[in-house]
Amino acid sequence: MRQAIPAKVRELVANRAEHRCEYCRFHEDDLFFSFEVDHIVSIKHGGGNEPENLAFSCPHCNNHKGSDLTTILDDYNDIVRLFNPRIHEWASHFQTVDGEIISLT
Ligand SMILES: [Zn+2]
Repeated sequence: MRQAIPAKVRELVANRAEHRCEYCRFHEDDLFFSFEVDHIVSIKHGGGNEPENLAFSCPHCNNHKGSDLTTILDDYNDIVRLFNPRIHEWASHFQTVDGEIISLT
């Protein structure tokens, strides 16, 4: 059964992320819609509600990621793990060019 994330935990996650989406770096104040708390490893894959498994996310990134942990790269036909903001450094995997996010890895 899915448990709601307590308000204190949500606040901790938002503050830790400086109120920016941990995937696209968009700031919460710059979007009309409320940001969400993403389970990096979804509940269905054994993840929990502990802060180490939670990421602050804009609705677009959270909906796009869903419960996925990996993706398949067309060019290489390889299965690769998705970005995990708890163990990966954003700037090592992405950069912004003229407001567009470019993947480096
Ligand atoms: Zn985002």
